[in-house]
Amino acid sequence: MGVTVNGRTKTLGVIGNPVEHTLSPVIHNELARVYNHNVVYLPYLVDGSVGDAIRGAYALHFGGLNVTVPHKTEVLQYVVEVDEFAKRIGAVNTLVPAEGGFKAYNTDIPGLYRGMLSDGVNMDGEDVMILGAGGAARSVAMLALDKGAKQVYILNRTVSKAEEIAKEINAYAGREFVTAMALTGYPKLSGKKYLCIQATSVGLYPKVEDVVIEDSEFYDMIHTGYDIIYNPYETRFMSLVKAHGGRAFNGLKMLLYQGIIAYELWNDISVSEEVAQQILGKMKEALGL
Ligand code: NAP
Repeated sequence: MGVTVNGRTKTLGVIGNPVEHTLSPVIHNELARVYNHNVVYLPYLVDGSVGDAIRGAYALHFGGLNVTVPHKTEVLQYVVEVDEFAKRIGAVNTLVPAEGGFKAYNTDIPGLYRGMLSDGVNMDGEDVMILGAGGAARSVAMLALDKGAKQVYILNRTVSKAEEIAKEINAYAGREFVTAMALTGYPKLSGKKYLCIQATSVGLYPKVEDVVIEDSEFYDMIHTGYDIIYNPYETRFMSLVKAHGGRAFNGLKMLLYQGIIAYELWNDISVSEEVAQQILGKMKEALGL
């Protein structure tokens, strides 16, 4: 049974541009149904003032908001408090009502980590390669530091962007934890097996045949490949990792757990792994899988 909307129903939602393809309503409305919470979650296109949208949602007593592309950094100006981890990441995706305004959190990165753990992948003691040097790659490098990875290599088309991230994280870590290199630089790293996180937008639907690195030798170096893309369900990167004997996972669980962690913050509950799997099933249904 779904939620019966009445005078006590709380509104949750996501702001972004575009928002029409978001899977978040599936995650949250299903969680509300499972826990019998009187909440509804809706998508809101914000193509004007982000500040007006945030102030309006607070004035309307929203129970919580998700923030997606392109507002994840700008929204920081319009909140009253930012969680410590989210401050380090520099981007937020979840707003929780607090005194006088919203408090901002980042649940994308804890979501990725919870997804990895549920797939039996840990960063502790790992040599990690990250493909890409955008917002997602930067956050993944920060997570790797937090979770005890041995070292991180960031490979990017624009090397200067990888260098910027390395400089910033190494200053924070107080050691040479991140090394920046070009996409062609991987032969220097041979002789070890890596956990590789694909954090570029290459391979995303509809360009499903694209992959950042084609070379066989590269895939021989990967014991586990994690693509943060989930559409297509199996990216070309994942197929190549598997073809070379590695394990490969997509980004659907990252999306699932970022939603679950947000819902936990808004409703002060802890979502069980069993319910998480149920929600994952609903997401796959929505994707036609
Ligand atoms: P971003 O900041 O725009 O960064 C994009 C990255 O992709 C850059 O490193 C860019 O390299 C690289 N790139 C783009 N086109 C390329 C090409 N043709 N050849 C080589 N490299 C190319 O994006 P982002 O926010 O980090 O997000 C990256 C991906 O993560 C997106 O596809 C997004 O859908 C996915 N994502 C998934 C989740 C989830 O919940 N599963 C959450 C967040 C993001 P340059 O620096 O050289 O331009």
